[in-house]
Amino acid sequence: MTISYDITWDLDPTARGFRGRTAVRFCGTPSHAQLAASHLRHARLNGRDVPWDGARVALDAAGELEVDADFAWADDRGFRRVRADGATYLYTLQYPDRAPWSFCALDQRARSEFALTVNAPGLVLASSTETPIAPYALAAAAGPWEQVAEQVYATGSRAAQRPDGEAVSRRVREAIAFFEDLLEVPFPYGKCEALFVPDLPHLAFSSPGLILFDDAVLDALATREPLYATTVLSHEVAHAWSGNLVDAEPWLVEALATYLSRLATEHLLPGTDPWQLPPNAPWPDRPYAPHLARVRAMEDALGRPALLRALRTYFRRYAHTDAGWAEFKACLRE
Ligand SMILES: [Zn+2]
Repeated sequence: MTISYDITWDLDPTARGFRGRTAVRFCGTPSHAQLAASHLRHARLNGRDVPWDGARVALDAAGELEVDADFAWADDRGFRRVRADGATYLYTLQYPDRAPWSFCALDQRARSEFALTVNAPGLVLASSTETPIAPYALAAAAGPWEQVAEQVYATGSRAAQRPDGEAVSRRVREAIAFFEDLLEVPFPYGKCEALFVPDLPHLAFSSPGLILFDDAVLDALATREPLYATTVLSHEVAHAWSGNLVDAEPWLVEALATYLSRLATEHLLPGTDPWQLPPNAPWPDRPYAPHLARVRAMEDALGRPALLRALRTYFRRYAHTDAGWAEFKACLRE
């Protein structure tokens, strides 16, 4: 099923909610689209009204669905609205299945084409949409963000942290160059912006071309050891390949991103041992230790050169598609 979305968001941070218009063209015969709006202005399939039951828009044909609706700000889905240093900032939280809180969505895992128009005061940052991406991977942010370094943005009060911003910018570029060289697959998107947002419910979210980090990461960069910063930044950059370029089961996505980030850290911080993390130190990828152990077992069995060959094949062969453990295992056997 080919799906193409044209989304327009009108975001006024002082309003009680926001307006989202979705024009989605699709073939195939899905029975419904998902829409978690607070109010529907209209939903029309090929020009005629179709019913919405509060969660689903019923579909009975392929073609073009036009939905014009109002949405509420929410803490954990759709658009999150946060106050920081006297200003209001907006950013999306779509992962893993929360797109319908900001636009009308068909299959939330299906890679789709996106055209995005964001009408909002301040600076607007959004995912790269030059290649098909899944609805949950689409991210956008609007507000009086300040640029703190090349392709690095943060809230106004963080603008003073220019040295940290420059360190982020440099590390991100170094990680990209390392992975391009290692994987022999170019960075898949036209840009790699890092945006530090207040109160992100997770530590970070890597969308194609736009990585959201929680503000706390910026503080940690200033106060913690370089091993921490390099591991966190290179993990999120690695998701450009593992997760965004090729999506798979969550454990495999995290296993490969964690493994790749360890390789990057080993290279970027010579003399450190990223495979042996300080015990008891809060380390964000610690929950992925069992996943990483599986990849390390493959490395032990095959040797690192063979594992890297399989990774190169996997990311090249399945670029811009979803390919899970079965496909990766086949690459390992070649
Ligand atoms: Zn991750």
